[in-house]
Amino acid sequence: MTESELTYESFTNDPFQDLIPADQTKGASQILEWAYGNFGDSIIYSCSFGAESMVLINLISKVKKDAQIVFLDTGIHFQETYDLIDRVKERYPELSIKLKKPDLTLEEQTEKHGESLWKSNPNQCCFIRKIKPLEDVLSGASAWISGLRREQSPSRQNTDFVNKDERFKSIKVCPLIHWTWDDVWDYIQKYDLPYNELHDFQYPSIGCIPCTSQVSSSGDSRDGRWAGSSKTECGLHTASDHSK
Ligand code: SF4
Repeated sequence: MTESELTYESFTNDPFQDLIPADQTKGASQILEWAYGNFGDSIIYSCSFGAESMVLINLISKVKKDAQIVFLDTGIHFQETYDLIDRVKERYPELSIKLKKPDLTLEEQTEKHGESLWKSNPNQCCFIRKIKPLEDVLSGASAWISGLRREQSPSRQNTDFVNKDERFKSIKVCPLIHWTWDDVWDYIQKYDLPYNELHDFQYPSIGCIPCTSQVSSSGDSRDGRWAGSSKTECGLHTASDHSK
């Protein structure tokens, strides 16, 4: 595949679907080399600053030192997450790390939609605070990077390295699809990478405060997200429109 050949419009299938990764990074480095070669400055990493993000940031920094990274700052994240972002900025000063805020402040959201929208209508809350902001970010980009792994959940098992993203009319590149939870932590420890301190207190998956809880035993789990509700995804990785 040559530079700039692949676009949302021209996408038919993952150009790496036959790749059997044998390298240490399970294909991730090769995919990132290709992605930055194909999309140049027009690819954005939408980073949650979870454990997978620490791996991806490290791998990306080896391919493109000044890569664009965006954190969807809902305004309801743990202080530990904001502290981690500061530590990552110190470790990788050349990366462009930006925090994208929603149009509505929390106060404006309460005024318009009532108290604790994350309880009364979490899909609408995610739409306002995550999906719409990412739409805005991706409107000027050709592609984006995500840290999805196939073993995370049944809905992620069919994720490819390169995906046509109908939700955002974009190309979604997922370099870590073959990584296990143990792979992620082995890499973090091997390279002494920073990570969110909450991971040490049985928070395997960390998002907004109201929708994140401790799990009974640490492991590869998204159980601590939207606990007690049927919601399992914020909508960034599903095709449906959760704006209502
Ligand atoms: Fe709102 Fe919870 Fe979604 Fe955060 S994760 S945007 S608080 S519903």
